[in-house]
Amino acid sequence: MFMVIYFAGQNSVGHINWRTSIIRMHMTPERTVSDGGDILDCIQRGNVEECIEFIQNDRSVIKQQGWAGFTALHYAAIHGNRALVELFLSSGADPNVMSDAGQTAFHFACRQGNIYIMHKMMQYGADLRLRDYQGKTPLHHAVTGGNIVAMHYLWETGMLRFSDTDMFRVTPLHLAASTGNIEVVCYLLKDQRCAVDAVDQQGATAFHIAAERGGVEICWTLLQRAGCRMLHQRNYSGLSPLDLSKQGKTFRHQQLTKLLSRYIREPIHHKPGDSNALYYWTLFFPSLGGAAILLIAAMLGGYGGLICLFLFPWLASSIFSQYHRMATYQRSPNPIYLGTLVAGILHSLLCFYGKMIPSAWPYSTLAQVSVFHFSVLLGMFLRILNQDPGVLDKADSDPRFSCIADLVESNQSLQKFCPYCELFQPDFTKHCKLCQVCVKDYDHHCLFLNRCIGRDNHRLFIFFILAMVTSHLLFVAMAMCYLYSKMSEDGRSLSQCLTLLGEEFWVVVMMVLNGMTLFWDAWILIEQFDAVASTTTIYFRHTEISERQRSQSQRWAIVLTFLLEGRKWLGSKTSDEDKLAIEI
Ligand SMILES: [Zn+2]
Ligand SMILES: [Zn+2]
Repeated sequence: MFMVIYFAGQNSVGHINWRTSIIRMHMTPERTVSDGGDILDCIQRGNVEECIEFIQNDRSVIKQQGWAGFTALHYAAIHGNRALVELFLSSGADPNVMSDAGQTAFHFACRQGNIYIMHKMMQYGADLRLRDYQGKTPLHHAVTGGNIVAMHYLWETGMLRFSDTDMFRVTPLHLAASTGNIEVVCYLLKDQRCAVDAVDQQGATAFHIAAERGGVEICWTLLQRAGCRMLHQRNYSGLSPLDLSKQGKTFRHQQLTKLLSRYIREPIHHKPGDSNALYYWTLFFPSLGGAAILLIAAMLGGYGGLICLFLFPWLASSIFSQYHRMATYQRSPNPIYLGTLVAGILHSLLCFYGKMIPSAWPYSTLAQVSVFHFSVLLGMFLRILNQDPGVLDKADSDPRFSCIADLVESNQSLQKFCPYCELFQPDFTKHCKLCQVCVKDYDHHCLFLNRCIGRDNHRLFIFFILAMVTSHLLFVAMAMCYLYSKMSEDGRSLSQCLTLLGEEFWVVVMMVLNGMTLFWDAWILIEQFDAVASTTTIYFRHTEISERQRSQSQRWAIVLTFLLEGRKWLGSKTSDEDKLAIEI
């Protein structure tokens, strides 16, 4: 089946739509009858020894072209088999041999996105300027494959431009919009690598392509970058992106049509931004939801406790079933968990000072201590929300590497290059997709603070959790004193006590919630102290190099030093040593 389509693509290349040909390009050719004999079976199985035997028996198998003009090197590149590619290249395979569609093994390696194979082929003379018979450069192939590091690697050679088009006047941005890869689209839009309004031979922009396939996120990104003028651009058939979107019948097309219809009336230079209303609604939903349940419970008097028993679990399940990103085309981080923490603090403080304190102040020491402690807690909360977690910038990036080829040649992991920030990460650094930054000494992304925990706020985070533990203990202690004082009035019977608990549902609910959160705090602290004592972070705990076994007292000493002086032994130490080595 594939062969028929593939040949049709090659024979009628001038007549077919370029987007149909992209779909074909994605397909991996299957092994068929070939002059190359069974060596192709060995490649498919990835059996290096058998391939060596084949070459030793007959070196000409390397040069033979089989079905569709593919060589053994083409197949090894498609399979991304580094060992076989190296074997064939060292046995005399030419990476510039073209298949019947004009594609070289290097084109295939680019599409596959295997940097090691691409690098090896370039060492063996792969020509980056070679285009296939559709005029596609290696960069086009890398974009089709969707690997940003491969694109960046090609761009770093200085021999390819993002503005290059194929014979259908298709730019890499068109291809990215066609494959629906939002990350590649963002990469190509950065630093104006690709012109947003470039048109293909049918007059279509990348926006038209995305609208036709119902790519809501890509259309939204393009709209934000280029403004509403994109909506009015028509292709050579006279169709706007909105017209193309209306032709689609899927839910995504309907969603897109609604979005585009809203912005088509805006001035052409207007660049829409993310909706703040949706963000703040989601942020305050837990607080408002909790308040609504408490109000309903208050109105029902004696049955208030029962209402809370059913409605609070419902509220919790509707919060905790949400995704980390908002389920709209905006895809921004979901602030619902931060909202839950805000709701917890807000409602606890309201209950504490609105309900319990008036009956205890100024006689209770607990009440006096709480004023000071809660002020400190709120101060820490605001500070942690605003403090830089240790974002990696250009000055901090690993000085040993200046391009991706440096990583390949020094046999380092390619993951050291962050394709989103385009920086070389020092050890213990990780990119956070929600915050869209690289964070040094990355610990974790805290959903409840809606930000990362890293080198510069890790200690503050642990202090914040300790302060939370104290607050929960204070609340639970105060609530117990309050309820005890109510119960001991006039020497109530057991049934009267139970009725009182139902009437005092506000205090009871908040006491239960604070008490339950204590367990969660304890779990966080155990995990954190364990990671700190092992001189690592939660995220990098699994990569920890076997430390010599420390005694319990040594581990506590490390934790205490961390709390008093901050982290000194992780990434900072390594990079300082490296910098020193380079300066010398
Ligand atoms: Zn990054
Ligand atoms: Zn983050």
